Amino acid sequence: MKHIVTLIRVFFLLLFLFLVINGKMMLWLALFGSGLIAAVLFGRVYCGYACPMNTIMIPTAWLSKKLAWQTDTSPEWISSEKFGWFALIGSLVLMLSARRVLDRNLPILLIWLVAALLTTLRYKPSVFHNQICPFGVLQKAFGRFALISKKVKKEGCIGCTLCEKVCPSNAIIVEKEEKKAEINKEYCFQCTNCQQICPAGSIQYTK
Ligand code: SF4
Ligand code: SF4
Repeated sequence: MKHIVTLIRVFFLLLFLFLVINGKMMLWLALFGSGLIAAVLFGRVYCGYACPMNTIMIPTAWLSKKLAWQTDTSPEWISSEKFGWFALIGSLVLMLSARRVLDRNLPILLIWLVAALLTTLRYKPSVFHNQICPFGVLQKAFGRFALISKKVKKEGCIGCTLCEKVCPSNAIIVEKEEKKAEINKEYCFQCTNCQQICPAGSIQYTK
């Protein structure tokens, strides 16, 4: 399962680079738009499998942890999740201005790819995913209505917190008193990390 997920991510990363090199960024944005519709049906699968930022952040987070650069804190100025909306509006304004004034397409996805990489060298991936990413705010808005998503079967959960530790977006939290895990589908990328590690087999992809 893990290898299949990695292969899918690498495929989309190569597709992204191919489209960028050939000046077809708009095709990628169309794919992102389809990802929003998919989010309502299947959850945020675009974020978990297709997003080049997420794919590049996985080895970056590993490296940052190895080098002990990663910190548990997040910067104060983005403590509110509103920053993502500002980033989205700012990106749209910059893209439209570049088109009008310079008659050029601004490589906005590449710019955010570099921002994701630099952020993840210092902070946990959830900081970029939940507080900074301008594309993530839209995915969250659609993903909260997901018809099918990861869910925890409470009766089987032993509260071991292993799932919490491997979740890239802080979508799964083990309640302190009840000692049962719960998934917030607005944040969940459907990435299967938690499902793969759960010793009780309590996490399912279901309605
Ligand atoms: S680890 Fe689980 S809860 Fe977290 S994003 Fe992946 S599938 Fe969703
Ligand atoms: S890994 Fe499984 S058993 Fe452990 S807390 Fe998460 S859902 Fe519960």
